[in-house]
Amino acid sequence: MAKKSAKGHIEIDRELCKGCYLCIDVCPQKNISKSSKLNQKGYYPAQFEQSEENRCTGCAQCATICPDVAIEVYRD
Ligand code: SF4
Ligand code: SF4
Repeated sequence: MAKKSAKGHIEIDRELCKGCYLCIDVCPQKNISKSSKLNQKGYYPAQFEQSEENRCTGCAQCATICPDVAIEVYRD
């Protein structure tokens, strides 16, 4: 039987995000990008996106590095 790979997803609180983009650099799956819409504080927050090829693994590296505790990780 094929080993099931880890899957997860994250939620980014766009109003807590200060646009440092450390999470974009750290994500091994490249699931995080920069939003084109400003938040209330005037930053372009990070946003989560995934495709069948690039699935979030729930590794939590993004949440660990975020200085503003704006990321919640869920393991599916
Ligand atoms: S690490 Fe946190 S504050 Fe920095 S861009 Fe990502 S979500 Fe925003
Ligand atoms: S949990 Fe891991 S794979 Fe998922 S978005 Fe964060 S850094 Fe990327």
